[in-house]
Amino acid sequence: MSEDCIFCAIVAGDIPGRIVDENDDAVAFLDANPMSPGHTLVVPKAHRTRLADMSREESRHVFDLVHELAPRVEDAVDADAHTIAVNDGPDAGQEVPHVHVHVIPRFADDDGGP
Ligand code: ADP
Repeated sequence: MSEDCIFCAIVAGDIPGRIVDENDDAVAFLDANPMSPGHTLVVPKAHRTRLADMSREESRHVFDLVHELAPRVEDAVDADAHTIAVNDGPDAGQEVPHVHVHVIPRFADDDGGP
């Protein structure tokens, strides 16, 4: 855990997060500023800044959770599709330095969305 990391604090339960699901190495919670209804983030439980900082096992657990969750989120909000994205590094727009996979529900009429 990194002391000043907001996603570590959510994983640890130190600040409130709307947790959706978890597995051994990953947690999914709702994005605080959703780009569309149901926008969910999947993060490793351990503090990892970049994708390449995760072990293969951690990476497998994170993407397993994405794979399992995306159709459930799509169903839950009656979406037509979803965008799955990782901003991997500050120059790619990563603002929170703890790996997170965006699962963003998309709708037929959302004009291009995120
Ligand atoms: P960007 O903000 O450009 O999408 P990131 O890819 O780093 O950059 O995304 C960070 C995401 O984390 C944003 O979607 C933001 O809404 C979300 N976020 C920030 N703080 C929290 C929080 N406390 N709880 C849930 N989501 C958060």
